[in-house]
Amino acid sequence: LIEIDTIRKSFGDFQVLKGISLSVQKGEAVCIIGPSGSGKSTILRCINGLIPIDEGFIRVGEHRVHELKTEKQMRPLRHQVAMVFQQYNLFPHRTALENIMMAPVQVLGHDRAEVEDRARKLLKKVRLSEKADSYPGQLSGGQQQRVAIARALAMQPEVILFDEVTAALDPETVKEVLFTIRELVEDGLTCILVTHEMKFARDVSQRVCFTDRGLIVESAPPAELFDNPQDPRTREFLGQVL
Ligand code: ATP
Ligand code: MG
Repeated sequence: LIEIDTIRKSFGDFQVLKGISLSVQKGEAVCIIGPSGSGKSTILRCINGLIPIDEGFIRVGEHRVHELKTEKQMRPLRHQVAMVFQQYNLFPHRTALENIMMAPVQVLGHDRAEVEDRARKLLKKVRLSEKADSYPGQLSGGQQQRVAIARALAMQPEVILFDEVTAALDPETVKEVLFTIRELVEDGLTCILVTHEMKFARDVSQRVCFTDRGLIVESAPPAELFDNPQDPRTREFLGQVL
């Protein structure tokens, strides 16, 4: 579903991505781990076209991302690839239900009643049915993040990119959010997750990529990568975080 071939990206003189290649099959969950500044968020932003690449090739489904130039050309890609961030960015003056409904109604022009029906199902899926009419300020961080995930799902994307979605949460609420993501993965959602939660990466993903200084240094099924890392840099990193 996703094919990334030797992409490079510089900001000024600084080359952030130095030839990243990665392919993701439909239904696969791939985790990206690695030190701060190694380029993890940049990879995700390139995949959904938020940042143009300098060299290389990115394909998502039938979209050749590196060839899309204008916002108009980008739009179908953005509908197919949702992104969830550390900051959930919900609209504060809209209820949980309204936050989930906004994009499908306003951007896709879908029928309001149909969208509401789907939004309620999604709230149930993230276990927040009883919070439909609550405003973001009345929800905990973990609950807001789950609304943000439901909002992403409401666009019926083929892929969701998760960028450290639990990094801003306290340990108790981290669990609820990871539980939600795990269920989505089990349902067959295709996703790429940047995470510092090593146990989660190990339990949930089919593959883990370790990035360092703009390169994917090592990529393997989690059991292999965590138990028997091949590259010294992976070993050093895991030694610090495990
Ligand atoms: P973290 O774990 O801290 O989130 P990361 O692996 O996600 O780190 P990126 O955000 O991809 O790292 O950033 C990689 C490098 O690129 C960093 O050195 C960062 O300062 C630089 N960088 C990212 N975005 C920009 C930008 N828009 N302009 C200039 N430099 C940038
Ligand atoms: Mg980042």
